[in-house]
Parts: sequence; C-alpha cells; structure tokens
Amino acid sequence: MIRRYDAVIIGSGFSGSLLGWILATRGWRVAIVDRASHPRFAIGESSTPTADFLLAFLADRWSLPELRPLAAWGTWKESYPQIDCGKKRGFAYVRHQRDCSFFDDLECSQSMMVAASQTDYWSDTHWMRSDVDGFLANRAQSAGCEVLERTTIDSAIRDDEWQLKLSQQLEDNDEAIPHSLKSRWVIDAGGGGNFSSSWLGNAPDDDWMRTKTFAMYGHFDNVGSLNPMLGQSTSPDLRSDFFIDDSAQHHITEDGWMWMLRFDSGITSAGIVLPLELQPKLNPGETRSWFQDWCQQYPSIHELMRNTQLVDPTIGIRKSGRLSRCRARAVGEGWVMLPTAYGFVDPLHSTGIAHALSGVLRVAELLDQDGNVDRATSDRWSQYDHQLRQELQWLDLLVGGCYTALPSFDAFCAYASWYFVAAIAFEQTMARDPSFWPEGYMESGSEAMKASALATFPSQRQTSSSDSMIDLIRNAIKPWNRVGLLETPLGRRIPHTSPPKYAKRESNPNER
Ligand SMILES: Cc1cc2nc3c(=O)[nH]c(=O)nc-3n(C[C@H](O)[C@H](O)[C@H](O)COP(=O)(O)OP(=O)(O)OC[C@H]3O[C@@H](n4cnc5c(N)ncnc54)[C@H](O)[C@@H]3O)c2cc1C
Repeated sequence: MIRRYDAVIIGSGFSGSLLGWILATRGWRVAIVDRASHPRFAIGESSTPTADFLLAFLADRWSLPELRPLAAWGTWKESYPQIDCGKKRGFAYVRHQRDCSFFDDLECSQSMMVAASQTDYWSDTHWMRSDVDGFLANRAQSAGCEVLERTTIDSAIRDDEWQLKLSQQLEDNDEAIPHSLKSRWVIDAGGGGNFSSSWLGNAPDDDWMRTKTFAMYGHFDNVGSLNPMLGQSTSPDLRSDFFIDDSAQHHITEDGWMWMLRFDSGITSAGIVLPLELQPKLNPGETRSWFQDWCQQYPSIHELMRNTQLVDPTIGIRKSGRLSRCRARAVGEGWVMLPTAYGFVDPLHSTGIAHALSGVLRVAELLDQDGNVDRATSDRWSQYDHQLRQELQWLDLLVGGCYTALPSFDAFCAYASWYFVAAIAFEQTMARDPSFWPEGYMESGSEAMKASALATFPSQRQTSSSDSMIDLIRNAIKPWNRVGLLETPLGRRIPHTSPPKYAKRESNPNER
C-alpha cells in the first residue's frame, strides 16, 4: 500500500526531528526516515548563546513548551535530568607546545576564556546527542510523525510528487520490509549522508572551501580536570568567573586542536582536529593508539587523558574524512536541505548546532507560509539557497583564518575575535527582534564586516611574531568590538556583555 505524506524528512537527528515535530503540530503529515535507530552514537557537542537563543525562540514561535527547557543548563536539569548534558559557561582556549607542560603567566598569555553566560543556571550546554536526538525523535513521533528507523532509501523519484521506495530492517538478520511513500516535499536533514547526491542530483561543490581538516574523536570516562592546571598564577582581576572545566575546552597546538566537553554523567567528549594533510593512514583498530600517541606529545594533554577509558570500546575512536563540505544547491523543485545536510565547515568554535537550528527555523517558516510545491522556486526559496551559501562562506572564513594563523597562539586568538564579534552582534540583533536578521545569520550579510575579516585573513602560517597582524585585527574589529576583545589587560578574559539569555528573559521573571 502506498502511504501519502506532505513531507518526508531524511534523517532523525535533532534538526530533522525538530522540523518534523513542528510540521506535525501544524497539521502536516510527516514521515521521518533514518538508516540508524535511536539511541545511536553521535559525538557530544556544545551549544552556544546563539544556539540556545534560537532553541528557545523556536519553542515559543512554534508553541513547543517541552522544547524550551533544553535552552539552558538549569532548566534542562530540572525538566529532563535523564537527558545527559554538561554545563558550558563559556569558551576556553589553552595553548600547548610539544614536550612542554602547560603553564600560564600573570597576563594569561597562554589561555583565553570568553564567558557566554553569567550564572550556572542560565548557562549553555554540552549535548549528549544520542540522548537529545532520541528525545526529539520521540517528541516528533508523539506529535504524529511516522518515524521509520533502520530504513534505507532504494529510490526517490519525482513526477508531480515524490515517490520513495524504502527498505526497513527491524532487527539484524530480519528480512527487509518494503515501504512505498508518496510525498509533496522531501527534506534532506541527513547531515553528511549522501541522499542529495544519490537522489537529488545535487553534487558536492566545495573546492572553494579554505578549511580542510579531519577529526579523531570518542567518548571517555575519567578525563582529568583542567581546573588545577590553569592555576591561580593569574592576577586576580584577570581571573575568570567560571571554572575552565565548565567550558568548551579548545586545547590549541601548533597545527590544530583538541576539544574536551565534560558531561554531568562524568563522560567527556574529546576529539582531535588537524589539517587534512596530516591525516594518517590507519588500519581498523589503530585509531586508539594513534590517539594516545598524539596526546603523549603534549604533557598536559597527556596528563588529562592518562587514566581515561573509552565509554564504549566497541564504538572506539572514530576517524572522519575531510570535515568541510558543501553542495551545489540547497533547494530544488519539491526539495530543500537543512544547513548541515547542505554543508559544514569544522567543529572549531561550535558553529554547527546554531546553524542547524537557524535552518530549522527558516525552513519551518518557509514551508508553513510558502509550502506549495508549485512555488518551490519562488524568490523566498532562492533567497534561502543564497543565504546558506553565504553563511557557509562566512563560517569558512572565520574558522579557516584561525587555522592559518597557527602555530602562533596569539594570532589564533586574534583571528578568533572575528567569530566572537560576529556572534555577539548577531545575538544583539536577535535580542531586538528574534525573527528579523537584517545582516543575515551571524552577520553573514554584513559586507563591511566580511571585507574587514577578509582583509585581515592571515596570508600564511604565522610562524614568527604576529604583532602586526594582531594590531591589524584589533583596529579592524573596532566598529563592532563591544566586549574588549584584544584590548589589554582584559583581552584574554572576556566577560559576557551580550544581551540576557532569551530563555531567561521571556520565561522566568524570578532572577536566579
Ligand atoms: C566531529 C564533529 C564535531 C562537532 N562538534 C560540534 C559542536 O561541538 N558544536 C556544534 O554546534 N556543532 C558541532 N558539530 C556539528 C554538528 O554535528 C551538526 O550541526 C549536527 O550534527 C547537525 O545535526 P543534524 O540533525 O542536522 O544532522 P545529523 O546529526 O548528522 O543527523 C543526520 C541523520 O540522518 C541520517 N541519515 C543520513 N543520511 C541518510 C540516508 N541517506 N538515509 C537515511 N538516513 C540518513 C543519519 O543516520 C543521522 O541520524 C560537529 C560536527 C562534527 C563532524
């Protein structure tokens, strides 16, 4: 029997599930198809003030009160203690050099901490994606979506509407159950999957990207604390008001970096990101020893990782291919892609969740107001297509500049200021009107900001003193620098001065 839907969503990650949930509450008949089943492994990731703003706004805009608690650590813990998360008070960048232990000085020349919230309760979070995605897929299902897990797509052909043939395997070794679906819309929320190449004729178009990295990552128990290593050598007025373990830790090396995101369960998501040309050729089973060898080069990282165990040895350490990617198009007749399916740059500065949520918000709005297939190529859809390309180019510039600035930690921190300038400006725009972004997502439409960031893009790796580059960036960010980035003595400890959290402002009159 052929079942009819208004939309088939490929992928039940958080963005596909969330969009399905929204559409179902608007009366759409939705099927969500995923080749995996929940709970499935997905590396732990960290949200940002932008991401949490968008999440709380999405909850209000589409009347999803059950979603709202996920927009801040305190509300999350109160409402969903069973969904694992971590407290993220800010971003931390710590310099490591081969064969040298980490030691900071009074001026904090070896570390940078940027606060993102003023209290624990209203802080951002690290997401245990397996828990979060499972929760959202469940919400989508309860709202009326049909969620088809362990299901692969055998064909997807569009005539006057989409016809999909699927195979679902309920258990290993079971015979596959065939499904035939018809749908007005196909929405690609498949992240780095290949649905769009296979069935939309939408080829990769990413030669232009500057950022070319790979990652090795896993979930660990027993990661050591960085709090004591940061020490109290820092002069008191430069001490941060949050513990460095309550942050998204970026351990910056000469070539790349390692992230550590600590969850309340004791699990830590940790991963190494390096330029693609350093990618090792490894046989299956060799990733763990490669990971350990890499950590051993940096005594303080080694110290943090020395007593760790993999949470699930069967999952082991995952190795990615090239992380950055982009597709030729984001929309077509009867189809649309969510941001992470369309493209991705790199985990540096945690831009992914916010970008994905911004896409859910926009696509839900477009489908709700302009979801007639006949108008799929109208101006509003073309605008979304154009925006996604512009955003990927902007994120690629912001992130790529930081890698090019290495091995100089000073130059890295200087170029990272562009990310914070853009994020804070965007948060301020959203605080005025969450649905009106005159300069685009993350200021990606601000020609002035982009031209200045491009003009200060490091022309080569910064191997010697980078004072002139830092001066250049310090001057260039001035029109937007409201928080003292690169200004001494506060330049390495940035207090959060962006608008109050949307979740806090709108939902809870009682100050915590
Ligand atoms: C190593 C790494 C670290 C990251 N760290 C961060 C971070 O700290 N902070 C941050 O903000 N962002 C981070 N990101 C980005 C983040 O992962 C994405 O923004 C996020 O995954 C987007 O979620 P999604 O639901 O759109 O896609 P996904 O999570 O990729 O989900 C896609 C789903 O679609 C399914 N699927 C794919 N193809 C098919 C197909 N053909 N048929 C059926 N099912 C299919 C998959 O099984 C999967 O369940 C990171 C990314 C990487 C690669």
